[in-house]
Amino acid sequence: MEKVSLPIILASHNPGKLEEFGRLFASTDVRLELDDFSGREIIEETGTTYRENAELKAREVARRTGHWALADDSGVEVDALGGLPGVHSARFVSDDSWENSREILLRLLETPWVKRTASMRAVLCLASPRGLVFFSEGVVEGHILTWPRGQAGFGVDPIFSIDGETSFAEWSQELKDRVSHRGMAVQGIIPIIRQVMAL
Ligand code: IMP
Repeated sequence: MEKVSLPIILASHNPGKLEEFGRLFASTDVRLELDDFSGREIIEETGTTYRENAELKAREVARRTGHWALADDSGVEVDALGGLPGVHSARFVSDDSWENSREILLRLLETPWVKRTASMRAVLCLASPRGLVFFSEGVVEGHILTWPRGQAGFGVDPIFSIDGETSFAEWSQELKDRVSHRGMAVQGIIPIIRQVMAL
């Protein structure tokens, strides 16, 4: 598909997310380019909400590059843990996603299946170099499995299930994209991107 002329800079370091965004935008007319982070400090996620963190990253990259920028912040919210790890998902007990997943499993050891409900949420922020911002949010509901399954994906994919049996890490990328929180958030931001690019 022919891409619209102005690029949008994707403000992310997370390889798992970069791969998903690449796929999610591949069949659209949006020209997504990776930010060149080389030699730069990672932008601190100092916000207390996904929205604040996504906005912080998108604004900073738009300001620095002079282009529209897109950033996301996401996490998993486990109901039996009062919504934890939520906005802290990437650094719940460690920087290592398997250690974070193991911690969730350990904290839920005594929790029966019906109470193992959880959501994954993603908030996207699109920011212009002059400080305009737009948001889109996606959420997918499921359960935390009792044991990890599958090798694909990233983060908590091996312990998150929407059918109560298989994990996202066992699903094809195409299938995950169709139902995932990030897939939903991208579907929501595409018409906004088209609108602002046409201005
Ligand atoms: P962020 O990089 O600050 O947005 O944090 C993302 C964290 O949330 C990841 O490290 C995972 O723990 C979790 N997460 C968010 N989206 C996903 C997903 O699609 N699959 C698996 N884990 C996810």
